[in-house]
Amino acid sequence: MRLVRLIANLGYGSRKDVAWMFREGRITDADGEVLYADDKVEHAAIRIDGEPLDPPAGLVLMMHKPLGVTCSRKDPGRVVYDLLPPRYRARTPALSTVGRLDRDTSGLLLFTDDGALLHRIISPRANIAKVYEATLAQDLRGDEQPLFASGSLMLDSESTPLLPALLDVLAPRHARLHIHEGRYHQVRRMFAATGNHVESLQRTAIGGLQLRGLQAGAWRQLGADDVAQIF
Ligand code: URA
Repeated sequence: MRLVRLIANLGYGSRKDVAWMFREGRITDADGEVLYADDKVEHAAIRIDGEPLDPPAGLVLMMHKPLGVTCSRKDPGRVVYDLLPPRYRARTPALSTVGRLDRDTSGLLLFTDDGALLHRIISPRANIAKVYEATLAQDLRGDEQPLFASGSLMLDSESTPLLPALLDVLAPRHARLHIHEGRYHQVRRMFAATGNHVESLQRTAIGGLQLRGLQAGAWRQLGADDVAQIF
């Protein structure tokens, strides 16, 4: 693929914009030598304004989603894409969130442009645990663990029971829940089904990949080793 198209597909600008970037000498190799649109260069050697070019298709990011932003692309309020460089919204193939978190839920959110990977993470068949910590309005009753583990809990207006979920009780009003599917408002509705109310909710892990170490609103690119931790 010609460099102009490659760089435009990565969201750095239209092909016209990128052609100008070449003319302005902003696109170089790793030694700072100015590149021309017809040059043949390895992706990893390309720099824009001295910064390495984003990876090609197969990009995976993790974010610590803060409260108050939504996972949609368009929303009158703030969206998770506003926390990323604008070029990530313009990439081809498009970068999507891997599942969603509610506006009032914080925690680990993945993005990828790899549809097969996305499916492998969110499909209930893949059996990847999504781990949440919930603070509750009332003390746990004591029967939540067997109820959630039963595989027979039905949520309002659903036609199939939930898959078994593991509950760790951390304190009378604080619990960690491991679920293997992602139904609408699932965690809040599970606790509501027991007469309780979730006051705050954070996703702390997806499979073996932990949120730890990332401040609210921060994000980073994942390497193959990070992605392997999910599975
Ligand atoms: N369950 C919820 O209720 N909300 C989320 O954001 C994620 C899981």
